[in-house]
Amino acid sequence: MSTKTTLSITELFATHVFTDEVMRERLPRDVYLSLRHTMQKGKAVPFEIAGIVANAMKEWAVSKGATHYSHWFQPMTGVTAQKHDSFISRRSDGRVIMEFSGKELVKGESDASSFPSGGLRCTFEARGYTIWDTTSYAFVKDGTLCIPTAFCSYSGHALDKKTPLLRSMDTLDFEARRILALFGKEDVQRVVPTVGVEQEYFLIDKEFAKMRPDLTITGRTLFGARPPKGQDLDDHYYGNIKPKIMAFMHELDTELWKLGVHAKTKHNEVAPAQYEFAPLFTISNIATDHNQLVMEMLKNVADRHGLMCLLHEKPFQGVNGSGKHNNWSLSTNKGGNLLEPGETPHENAQFLLFLVAVIKAVDDYQDLLRVSSASASNDHRLGANEAPPAIISMFLGDELAAVMDAIEKGKDYLKKEHKIEIGVTQLPRFAADTTDRNRTSPFAFTGNKFEFRMVGSTFSVAGPNIVLNTAVAASLRAFANELENAKDLKNTLAELIKREYSLHKRVVYGGNNYSKEWEAEAKKRGLLNLKSTAEALPTLILEKNEKLFVSHQVFSKDELHARFEILTEAYVKTIHIEALTMVDIVSSQIIPAVIAYQKEISKTLKNKKTLEGDFSCELENYLLKKISSLASEMLKNLQSLEKKIDESKKERTMAEQARFYEKNILSAMNVLRETVDSLEKIVAKKHWPLPSYACLLFSV
Ligand code: ADP
Ligand code: MG
Repeated sequence: MSTKTTLSITELFATHVFTDEVMRERLPRDVYLSLRHTMQKGKAVPFEIAGIVANAMKEWAVSKGATHYSHWFQPMTGVTAQKHDSFISRRSDGRVIMEFSGKELVKGESDASSFPSGGLRCTFEARGYTIWDTTSYAFVKDGTLCIPTAFCSYSGHALDKKTPLLRSMDTLDFEARRILALFGKEDVQRVVPTVGVEQEYFLIDKEFAKMRPDLTITGRTLFGARPPKGQDLDDHYYGNIKPKIMAFMHELDTELWKLGVHAKTKHNEVAPAQYEFAPLFTISNIATDHNQLVMEMLKNVADRHGLMCLLHEKPFQGVNGSGKHNNWSLSTNKGGNLLEPGETPHENAQFLLFLVAVIKAVDDYQDLLRVSSASASNDHRLGANEAPPAIISMFLGDELAAVMDAIEKGKDYLKKEHKIEIGVTQLPRFAADTTDRNRTSPFAFTGNKFEFRMVGSTFSVAGPNIVLNTAVAASLRAFANELENAKDLKNTLAELIKREYSLHKRVVYGGNNYSKEWEAEAKKRGLLNLKSTAEALPTLILEKNEKLFVSHQVFSKDELHARFEILTEAYVKTIHIEALTMVDIVSSQIIPAVIAYQKEISKTLKNKKTLEGDFSCELENYLLKKISSLASEMLKNLQSLEKKIDESKKERTMAEQARFYEKNILSAMNVLRETVDSLEKIVAKKHWPLPSYACLLFSV
């Protein structure tokens, strides 16, 4: 693939996407209008037009070099999956033609038995169905027409991340329009959550990376002594981008533009070898699809440039990890941003209501937001003084927080020196700059959107958005129920905003979230502090949370419990694989290296003794003593880890097993790592089998 292109961005943009424009061009007018209608409504494609659409799609895809089609979906593994079928079909005269039927477009059947289902699928009904998500455009990638789809079991249970995301968007749309109707906006046809995902990642030399089984198998370094220079100088952040990296970024942008991803921002991040990518925001489900494409392209393009892209949340101990910022807001089909403070008192009342809905949602469902960013890998990052702690709180900015306090207490707002009466007073304008920039907050208001910063860099953003959409829908539903029955709407509204802010303001915090004081203060406020994934996951199936999802038809009870099982199993398996990889590296690489070095020193020692003259053997003796003492310690720690792995085979419930891994396996891994890292510092480089941190972080 060429990295240079003579086309301008506008000519290149979405050339590989079956966009609205292409549809209008290639479909008969009545078919186009009918399809558009179903797309806007998020409905299934009527069978009568499916064949015509499929054919036009195939003709277009073939013109882009496609030979295959695939239903592109997002199973619970967190990555995307697809099965490729070629368009090939045989005619009765034996000739081969390219064909794609309406049935093949609308619904695909695939063997679901190898995807995690959390017990939702018995093997005798292994079939899974993929159904076209008409709200997300089809595209051509690597010679395949990809049709974004939802994935469910034979009995209709969601087996993927997209189905519940679409359901959460529906409930949010419904409840938000009830609120807008109260403000006289019955003409709004759809409210959608908008999402812009900032993505952090590392780029390292592929050849060095391949020499590290820990990186290739687990995505992170399980060993590695600290280099003399880490990120101490902070000289990487926004620094000059090196030509090799620029070439990579250029090709990444180009590939993403072709796929209709609005690649926008790129820069160096805080840690050495760390970078960030951000697109323009778009509708939640499309942003989710696009972020999956971004992660896929990051890996593929890096590979073509002799690099390896690490998406892991904490590839290097002692160096900042990678996250994902989920910027979230609400928009109407008329383009209005519902979290934008308005120009008039009336609009401001509406803004405040939506704002309070989000505050209530974050407070009521702290646990779910925590779960939505919980994984074995993200546990290494959250609370490590580089990412938000495990405590969920939100930042409003000084000005907005002061306004809310004034409203709650019925006091004067300092700057205006008069009371803010909801629906009567104009709010002060919040300059975007003043709503800055508490970088320590997990959930920050940034002028006209919220930024959820806990999400891990490997995550699909479907999970966090399912929780956000549903939790906010629940607030809006409660508000709409009350306001629709109000005799005096204006007063009830003012009372409601005051009351709800007062009830939920404990979750609002503007200070330093990294500080010890906050942990103590949060405890006093009764906020949750679910420190690890093992601790957080069981809250997913608490009765209140089950009630939320079921009553909004986002998850059935079975689906929710299945998700709990899948997530818990993934947590346990991740740590299990890491532990086995550690044992393997120590046994087959580190121990032989340590022995080889010891042998070399012993040989020198012996040689010295055979020579005539009075040579000092102090250094050799010192090294041998130190190495053998560390080596015994390593052996002890290795055996202790192996014993813990053995103990993990005992019968336990899922939740208990997760706790066991957190308490026993992880700690045994940490202890083993410490001794190995100490050995790395004294064993000669030529014997050490793993490329060092300095090598990995500073060689590109
Ligand atoms: P920062 O690094 O300061 O957080 P960036 O400019 O890197 O900011 O990223 C901001 C992200 O927020 C971008 O992806 C942008 O498209 C997105 N964004 C902006 N407005 C909205 C909105 N109304 N809804 C959702 N996302 C938004
Ligand atoms: Mg950000």
